[in-house]
Amino acid sequence: MVRALLALLALLGLLALPLLAGCGASPGPLAEVPAPPPDGVGGEVPRQVPGEAEVPAAPAEVVDGPVSDTPPAENEAPQRLSCLTAAYPDAIRSVEARGGAWFVTFRDGREVPWDDGRDKDSETRLTDPDLEDTVAQLYPVAGPFAPVAEGDEPGRARHPVLFANAYGDGERAVRAHLVDVPWPSAAPASVRFSSENGAADALRAVIATLSELPAEARRCLEPPIGSFSYRQIRGTERLSGHAYGIAIDLNVSCGEYWRWQRPFRGLEDSRMAKAIVDAFEAEGFIWGGRWHHYDTFHFEYRPEFFAPACQSEEP
Ligand SMILES: [Zn+2]
Repeated sequence: MVRALLALLALLGLLALPLLAGCGASPGPLAEVPAPPPDGVGGEVPRQVPGEAEVPAAPAEVVDGPVSDTPPAENEAPQRLSCLTAAYPDAIRSVEARGGAWFVTFRDGREVPWDDGRDKDSETRLTDPDLEDTVAQLYPVAGPFAPVAEGDEPGRARHPVLFANAYGDGERAVRAHLVDVPWPSAAPASVRFSSENGAADALRAVIATLSELPAEARRCLEPPIGSFSYRQIRGTERLSGHAYGIAIDLNVSCGEYWRWQRPFRGLEDSRMAKAIVDAFEAEGFIWGGRWHHYDTFHFEYRPEFFAPACQSEEP
C-alpha cells in the first residue's frame, strides 16, 4: 500500500516536473514576479524595488527631453549667459538648469529666468527685457562709425534686477558706492561714478588714454559733462545707465541725440571724435552712437558686450 502510494507520488512528481518546468519557462518575461518567494518580506521588498526602480526611469527621460531641444547638454549653459556671469561675478550668485530652462540667482536672492519665453517686438525687448534680450545683439567694438539699422540697439536694454545687484538697489544704495573720478578737462572737473563691478577703475583707465589725445579730440572732453543722475530715460519709466553711476555724457557740442532730429531718420555721421570712442570701447564701455536711436555723447560701462561669447555671431 505504501509502495503503491509512493509509486503514485513518484508518478505525480514526474507529472509535476513538466508543470514546474512550464512555470519555469514563463518566468522569462515575468522575471521580477518570482521575487516574492521571500514571502515574509515580500510585502515590502517587491513594492519598493520594482516600484522605485521603474518610476525614476520614466521621469529621467521626460526631463532629458525638453533639455535636448535647447543646447546639446543639460550642463551646458547658453553661450551668451556666460557674458553676464563673466561681467558681473559679484552680482550673480549661481546659474541653474531646471526642466530645460536656465535660471540666474542674484546676490540678493532673486531668481530670474534667462529666457522668459515670450515673443517680443523690438519696443518690448527694450521696455521689458529678459536677461537673454539684454545681450542678444552684437556690439560692433572698434568698428568705424556707420549708420545703424533699425532695431539695432545693443546695450539699450538693461535688466533691472541685474543692475540693482551690480550697482545698488535704489538711489540710496547706488549713491553709497559713488566715487569722484578726476576728469581731464582744462577746467577742474570730476565725474561721479560707481566703484562697484570695476566701473570706476575702467573709467580711470579710459581717462589715462583720453589725457594723451590731441587738442582737436580733447575739445569734446570739456565740461559740461554729466554722469550720475538718478533718473528715468526721457519718455519712459526705465532707469538710465546714469541712475546706476555707470554712464557719462560728454560735451553736447560733440554729440547728437535722436530726439533732436526731426524727422527722425537715423544718424549718417557723428561729430564725436573716433579716438574718444576707441578709448572708451577699449575699457568695456559701449557708445550710444552704435544705436539706431542714437545718443552719441553717451558712454556706458557694459563689460558683458566685450566678453568673447558676446563678440560672436552665434546666439
Ligand atoms: Zn547719457
